[in-house]
Amino acid sequence: MALIRVAILGSTGSIGRATLSVIARHSDRFQVVAICAYSSVSDVAAQVVEHHVPVAVIADPEALNGIDHLPKAEWKSGYAGVLEIVQDENVDVVVNAIVGSAGLEATLAALGAGKRLALANKESLVAGGSLVIEAARSGGGELIPIDSEHSAILQCLEGHDPESVARLVLTASGGPFRGLDKDALETVGPDDALRHPTWEMGRKITVDSATLANKALEVIEAHFLYGIDYERIDAIVHPQSIVHSFVEFADGSVLAQLGFPTMELPILYALSHPARVADASLRTFDPVRSSPLTFEKIDQELFGLFALGVAAGVRGGTAPAVFNAANEIAVQAFLSQDIRFLGMPDVVAHALDSVPQRNVETLDDVLDADSAARIAVHELMSFPRSLVGD
Ligand code: NDP
Repeated sequence: MALIRVAILGSTGSIGRATLSVIARHSDRFQVVAICAYSSVSDVAAQVVEHHVPVAVIADPEALNGIDHLPKAEWKSGYAGVLEIVQDENVDVVVNAIVGSAGLEATLAALGAGKRLALANKESLVAGGSLVIEAARSGGGELIPIDSEHSAILQCLEGHDPESVARLVLTASGGPFRGLDKDALETVGPDDALRHPTWEMGRKITVDSATLANKALEVIEAHFLYGIDYERIDAIVHPQSIVHSFVEFADGSVLAQLGFPTMELPILYALSHPARVADASLRTFDPVRSSPLTFEKIDQELFGLFALGVAAGVRGGTAPAVFNAANEIAVQAFLSQDIRFLGMPDVVAHALDSVPQRNVETLDDVLDADSAARIAVHELMSFPRSLVGD
């Protein structure tokens, strides 16, 4: 059997590193032929050596300047290098684990070149959903989600007529602030938000999980991936993170996919789909030890970014791109302690109110909305602190 050749974008991040570990355990099936990060040159160099990777890309065009000791590989720099590897004829599968809407052009290029895209970078689907689906259709690419919820839905849908789906129910851990009231949320800071109860992830998605913006991004992701109306996509809190999502069918039957929380399972599935590959390193499921499994409603008033994000999805056009970009800036500002936790929905709402909404016809429509949202948030944050929750 020929090895499946994989390019990993965002190889130095949480998903990128997990993908390298999964592939290292399955070197009889997969081979990493290219890796890419933004500016972590020494980490990429170490990965080149450890995983024998022939091509390495550093997306930051400046980061390789002045570095003279690099391990033997074909080194490329700048986003053009990223686009080259995703379209390379020697690549079968692209894992997009870049963080943020910076991953959008790579997503479009991979699908346009007819690759299988194992997508962790949900922001690209949120920002450019209709373009991404069209790129897959016209380029012949295949879009397989890595997000555990969407991987669960894919697994539940297999073998079923899409017309028979009544409802999708996404689960959310609830993050580190589940159960806190408004007074308690007034005082939480970055260190508190970065302490996730069930998942170990990069900083941006960990904050998104604390605000529940992540679940709004996932509702939009599910809408585009599975072509389901927003009225038929629900999200609930499930603190144990064992049930990764539910699909309800027209006859009232409900399927779910379960497993201990590890991203290595949906990563392996995105690489091997529709085949299932045995992996002794993944913890087997124990229903008794996992018990009890509990479910709660999302508090939409307290976690305002969830409601704002879903509303942006329903509005459509460039609204999800504006929501996503404004949220990216809000997360950075919260992490650098420029705004407070409860100030984040205010700045994102400001961007949604002030950036004119357009239909998405071209990539420029999305990129313009993305940069207008970033400018709107920066302008607001230069105003007195009272506007942003301080
Ligand atoms: P990390 O912050 O851990 O890693 C991000 C990676 O992206 C790094 O390798 C970084 O490189 C690279 N990167 C950042 N900007 C660029 C750019 N402009 N061009 C090229 N590479 C870039 O993120 P995560 O791994 O946590 O998340 C990645 C994506 O996966 C996100 O979209 C997230 O929502 C999604 N996801 C993550 C999950 C998780 O468990 N972590 C679960 C489900 C989805 P450098 O190191 O040089 O900065």
